[in-house]
Amino acid sequence: MGTVADNVAAVRERIAEAALRSGRRPEDIRLIAVTKTVSPEVIGQALAAGITDVGENRVQEALGKAPALPAGITWHLIGHLQTNKAKQAVQLFPWVHSLDSLHLAQALEKRAAAAGVRVKCLVEVNVAGEASKHGVRPEEALKLLEGVAALEHIEVRGLMTVAPYVTDPEEVRPVFRELAALARQAAELKLPQVTMTELSMGMSGDFEVAIEEGATMVRIGTAIFGRRS
Ligand SMILES: *Cc1c(COP(=O)(O)O)cnc(C)c1O
Repeated sequence: MGTVADNVAAVRERIAEAALRSGRRPEDIRLIAVTKTVSPEVIGQALAAGITDVGENRVQEALGKAPALPAGITWHLIGHLQTNKAKQAVQLFPWVHSLDSLHLAQALEKRAAAAGVRVKCLVEVNVAGEASKHGVRPEEALKLLEGVAALEHIEVRGLMTVAPYVTDPEEVRPVFRELAALARQAAELKLPQVTMTELSMGMSGDFEVAIEEGATMVRIGTAIFGRRS
């Protein structure tokens, strides 16, 4: 692999090509650099290469690194969130991609209200039904959205999924297609404070296929920072 800056440039080019192939504008896809296990120093190299959005799986790890990084980063929480971490989560993360229960939404609502902020959330859907993955089943998603719509400090902006790990990304195209279809169905409910403008899907191994199926946010770690140890 090249330098972090080279990798960011290569990923951006692949994003642009996938967007153009599917009749979309490259600038409509947000690149989130996933920095779990990556040091602030190396994250700094990605920021120097133009990265503005950073994704972390754990609240504690992100809070530990944030003071060593410049202000102005947009932080995305992409890993499972326990309700007892909701208070700390709202301190740093304007975006939570892993909303997967009404219980968690209520905890975030309480903490966001106390902090005087609104949290942009995506409902995580376990499309493929893998036992090892978090997220609601597709058939539970609409009910969760109806519950969350009443919460004033939670703005649902769309859906998120983590596709099964496969060697040929074509195998997971149906997963991305199903998430996009579910978002269209959810948009028809016209719930208050719920919009379906974002689809967070696609990682290093499958982001081009995800973009072809409508991803607006891709979460890329390995293709930028190399393999995690
Ligand atoms: C680690 C992680 C990613 C990035 O995965 P890569 O394959 O390294 O690009 C994206 N999304 C989530 C939820 C992750 O946990």
